[in-house]
Amino acid sequence: MIVQSFGGVEGVTGSCHLVKVGKLNILIDCGMFQGLDEDKNYQGFGFDPSIIDYLILTHSHIDHCGRIPLLVKHGFRGKIISTKPTYHITRIMLLDAANVMREEYKTQLKKAMRRGTPEEVNPPLYDENDVFTAMEYFKIILDYNQPFSLSKDVKIVLKNAGHILGSAYVEMYVNLDYKEKKVIFSGDLGTNIKLVIKPIEYPSEAEVVFIESTYGNRNHRPLEESIREFKTAILDSFKDGGNVIIPTFALERAQEILYLLRRMYDDGELPKCKVFLDSPLAISATRLFLQFSEHFNEEVKRLIERGHNPFVFPDVYFTTSVEESRKINEIESNAIILAGSGMCNGGRIKHHLKHNLWRENASVIFVGYQAVGTLGRQIVDGAKKVKIYGEEIAVKAKIYTINGFSAHADQSGLLQFLKSCNNIQLAYLIHGEPEIMKDFKEAIEKDVAINSHIVKKSEYIYIN
Ligand SMILES: [Zn+2]
Ligand SMILES: [Zn+2]
Repeated sequence: MIVQSFGGVEGVTGSCHLVKVGKLNILIDCGMFQGLDEDKNYQGFGFDPSIIDYLILTHSHIDHCGRIPLLVKHGFRGKIISTKPTYHITRIMLLDAANVMREEYKTQLKKAMRRGTPEEVNPPLYDENDVFTAMEYFKIILDYNQPFSLSKDVKIVLKNAGHILGSAYVEMYVNLDYKEKKVIFSGDLGTNIKLVIKPIEYPSEAEVVFIESTYGNRNHRPLEESIREFKTAILDSFKDGGNVIIPTFALERAQEILYLLRRMYDDGELPKCKVFLDSPLAISATRLFLQFSEHFNEEVKRLIERGHNPFVFPDVYFTTSVEESRKINEIESNAIILAGSGMCNGGRIKHHLKHNLWRENASVIFVGYQAVGTLGRQIVDGAKKVKIYGEEIAVKAKIYTINGFSAHADQSGLLQFLKSCNNIQLAYLIHGEPEIMKDFKEAIEKDVAINSHIVKKSEYIYIN
């Protein structure tokens, strides 16, 4: 068995791991490179897509699924395997990505033409039709814990990773010289307490684990503490009567925040206000969530059994059209506005920030990670003025940052994952920043007492 990683190594984006067992070629994830690594999307896969028999997709985040249409364009003719929610969410995520790329291309091309260098602009990686074609290759939909044989020597089981709706890690049982070896590919791992979906189900055994390392060097604040902070921020915000702006990722975080607001409403804690979910992608995702209530945790299931919608209550408005979205700008007080993008570098949130950041009685509550270089990060870091659509906007609103809502396991969660595997011999570290992985490697050696190795791009890893 040979494993080669072509993405999701030496960084957190572009997840893509090739597993060879005899003649069988299996790809785990085919994600998009993002941020500073974006150019890598144009540099080829590092292998011939036509040799792949199966692509196992762990979850629908774009850094894990975002290059699937490109893979198909370049000759992939195998079968894609995923859970049912992952299939449905991937569809809307890829269509959204195609849309964003098309718009971005138009904008960049206009600028480049004015400069006289249109050839400098990369065309979109794929369009909507490529997405529809790619979705045809999702041939095998698996439930959690449902075994599936890829060949006489390779069997897989998808287990609940507790990261986002439908997310899975892959348990792979491989016959090597008549002895069976169990190898795990973690995808992205979640936490053992979740607001909406079921928490992670830890593995019971594995000899080798390829494990993500996103937060391998630190621990999150407890979720309960973050929920308290969130409630206080909402109540504080409304004391002065202004609007509350919450930049939210469309998938998972938007639903979690709606659910928290619903709980506050039920408990009589939510001041009289209007709540807007102003993101077509988040609205589609929320509607999809409601079709998969069997994946929700017990508390949310009970709410549904009592006939309640966990994400909707009176005074919640889903605004799809641009018209409806613009109308929100006229509201000066007592509105909670959820919009994307989560890091404020695009999407409708920029309009809402432009209309509210300068108001002293408004607030912005950050509930997700803000990467360096984004508008969100500038605000979190205390900028007094920011530029939005070329206009200078004073930052007078109150700013709250709540850090404990991560969808990723922290260091103790990742170590817990490894420790729960009986017979574990070796951990391969993937999906992390190099500095963080070094710390995580030390923690593993100290706490789990096994060897570990930081995977380098396209190096051959032999497992026998
Ligand atoms: Zn993820
Ligand atoms: Zn990821």
